[in-house]
Amino acid sequence: MVRAARLASADPELRVSGSLGPGVAERAVLSSDQVEKTRAPTELVEVPPGDLARIGQNQRVSGEPDPASAGGGGSRGTGGERRARQPRGAWKRPPRRRVLAIRGRLRELYGRRRNHPHEEPVSELVRTILSQNTNDTNRDVAYDRLRDRFPSWAEVRDAPAGEVEQAIRPGGLAPSKAPRIQEALRRLDEGLDLDWLRDAPREDAIAYLVALPGVGRKTAACVLIFSFDRPEIPVDTHVHRVGARLGLFREGAGLEEAHDEMLAITPPEDAYELHMNLIEHGRAICRPRPRCDECALRRMCPYFRSGRGAPTRG
Ligand code: SF4
Repeated sequence: MVRAARLASADPELRVSGSLGPGVAERAVLSSDQVEKTRAPTELVEVPPGDLARIGQNQRVSGEPDPASAGGGGSRGTGGERRARQPRGAWKRPPRRRVLAIRGRLRELYGRRRNHPHEEPVSELVRTILSQNTNDTNRDVAYDRLRDRFPSWAEVRDAPAGEVEQAIRPGGLAPSKAPRIQEALRRLDEGLDLDWLRDAPREDAIAYLVALPGVGRKTAACVLIFSFDRPEIPVDTHVHRVGARLGLFREGAGLEEAHDEMLAITPPEDAYELHMNLIEHGRAICRPRPRCDECALRRMCPYFRSGRGAPTRG
């Protein structure tokens, strides 16, 4: 009942994309090196409407097309491609064997990633909010400064907004992020307890998190998978781009749809690995301008087979 009351206070959110990394583990749990090995930055952020005026609608730090706007079909990416339109009615989910084949090929390329859940959901939440529209380095500096200045999350919650803003200034958009973080913390129980998310029904956990200021599906997924190893696939820019090209979900799917599809087709035990390896492939090979001539997934890639994978050499 308490949670139902919380959900009633949902804030609307709006997603735009930029450069960021998902929250990473609490410093006391993982060293920075371990964090870098176990977490990968992403390039998709969730920004409430108030920030759009600051950063410009559809602005992308990375210069990639905004996945959130891909639902209409026919958008052009930085790689010069024109995204195909796939009507929802014509879309068929890939069979399990195909998903497993893609997972297996990615595993051959990038290894089998193991999650190291840190069980610090509040830290993950704050860190992911700090990640919005900034790069990993600035996010980490902001996070470290915040923890140095305020030893507990209760102190962050209760501090004058200006002090929090000053602490996180290196992360960018501090005037927006500081009150968003504080408001999110105020929405939690007095004890700032999110441990119940570990065992809560998934729908309840997601609904609760996305009702918090500045939190969308990707951030919610980050909190659940990186804190508790709950099977989620945060759909960042890389996952959105590579997954669509590989036919894991419909080309032109929006973020919500891509989230739902990835969750539906991915064996729970493979969620973390597939998330990380799709990101890795998106960074290394299947970039906005894809390097299909270097790609080991060509034979199982609808995008390449459709003739859109232009050679990058010669
Ligand atoms: S073949 Fe090209 S489009 Fe397909 S996954 Fe590889 S790089 Fe991406």
